Amino acid sequence: MGSCCSKHIPILSTSSSSDSFHHYSVPLPLDDARPPPPVPPPSVPPPRPPPTGPTILNKPYVDITTMYDLDRELGRGQFGITYLCTEKSTGLKYACKSISKRKLVTDKDITDVRREIIILQHLTGQPNIVEFKGAYEDKKNLHLVMELCSGGELFDRITAKGSYSEKEAARIGRQIVNVVHVCHFMGVMHRDLKPENFLMVSRDDSSPLKATDFGLSVFIETGKVYKDIVGSAYYVAPEVLRRNYGKEIDVWSAGVILYILLSGFPPFWAGKSSIVSWPSISNGAKDLIKRMLTIDPKRRITAADALEHPWLKKDGEASDRPIDSAVLIRMKQFRAMNKLKKLALKVIAENLSEEEIKGLRQMFNNMDTDSSGTITYEELRTGLSKLGSKLSEAEIKQLMEAADVDKNGTIDYIEFITATMHRHRLDKEENLFKAFRYFDKDNSGYITRDELRQAMTQYGMGMKLQLTKFLMMSTLTK
Ligand code: ADP
Ligand code: MG
Repeated sequence: MGSCCSKHIPILSTSSSSDSFHHYSVPLPLDDARPPPPVPPPSVPPPRPPPTGPTILNKPYVDITTMYDLDRELGRGQFGITYLCTEKSTGLKYACKSISKRKLVTDKDITDVRREIIILQHLTGQPNIVEFKGAYEDKKNLHLVMELCSGGELFDRITAKGSYSEKEAARIGRQIVNVVHVCHFMGVMHRDLKPENFLMVSRDDSSPLKATDFGLSVFIETGKVYKDIVGSAYYVAPEVLRRNYGKEIDVWSAGVILYILLSGFPPFWAGKSSIVSWPSISNGAKDLIKRMLTIDPKRRITAADALEHPWLKKDGEASDRPIDSAVLIRMKQFRAMNKLKKLALKVIAENLSEEEIKGLRQMFNNMDTDSSGTITYEELRTGLSKLGSKLSEAEIKQLMEAADVDKNGTIDYIEFITATMHRHRLDKEENLFKAFRYFDKDNSGYITRDELRQAMTQYGMGMKLQLTKFLMMSTLTK
């Protein structure tokens, strides 16, 4: 047991309000926003007691009413009722989708709802995707708290309006195709794109659109043939009914939405391949819709190419605005972290479940265009620009250097996951605990200098710095 205090590694708290520093022997403080742990801490923090009964989120029950005031109902779907809610500590308004656990009967229902949460967490921060705040569980319900979209469904707008001008349709269409692009780039197939699942952020006519419902979405697995018949009548792609499909189905559904925006009714088909009636729209609009509604999925336009289509680009504001996508933000945050935090994150990344990293694995595959198992500088640059980044060469180099933990000039798979995984992962106490246990080789409840040195060497992060300097870096502040 580590009984000698001088052996313990003090993690300095250098918050400007306090000069004192504490000797912590609790899990390494990784998250900058985290308040310092209580002093004096117990030796090894015991894992939280499991709640009674099986849980869906694998974490203790929380009484949501201690954090949020639940207000009126905003809408309901197949599983959930969505309420307006107010966060007590900030007064900020959110939407809370409450799913009754009684409705989650089969194992599949539970797997599905878990996947919905993982996908929401994975996509949050991307343009035109609802911001995810948190998932909470109590005895009866599961609550998904997210950004409030108070402008109602796109469906109701279309019904009220009849049809849109080409300019408006292009503005909305661009956002819908952008959702498809973001999903696919992030390794997700949406599978249920329809106007009911797009909400307007505000009542304003020019309000942005957000995709909110990922209840039928799945992670794209390379080479897998999808067979489940999912989606909604008007929007479903023909290959879904043939039970042999891939992500191209989302482009089809987006094409149907675009057609409806312009004409006010869904397309009708003559035989197998031609649309019966076209509203009087420009050739550009027709051309794009035809490409999106191409029967053969292999010949159908991709979301990335559709975004480049001249009709969709016309008057485009979105295309010349730099988008700081979630991935980029995560990489930048990672760059700003000190070595110790990076190392702890790497330990966490290696311990994530297959399901939790499916999306990032798909993204890695997207970037690793030559399937070599590593991402080169060129691949990173192309990948980020596909995500809408307008970073300079110098900045991309910095990101590359930050993510390349072992400094071999390329980013390998685990380095990529480490740099891009969502910081939500850090909220999970068991993840922190795993990281702590990894460092604490002799299970003493303390991390010693030797243990740290050993871990750093093992990860190819040789300690060139003097230990004291290094410790100065491992502070709670940035
Ligand atoms: P389901 O998976 O059961 O179909 P949805 O996610 O589609 O549930 O939500 C049901 C309804 O709740 C939506 O159609 C919408 O009216 C409302 N809703 C969902 N999310 C939000 C949100 N973020 N802001 C405002 N209303 C929402
Ligand atoms: Mg829905």
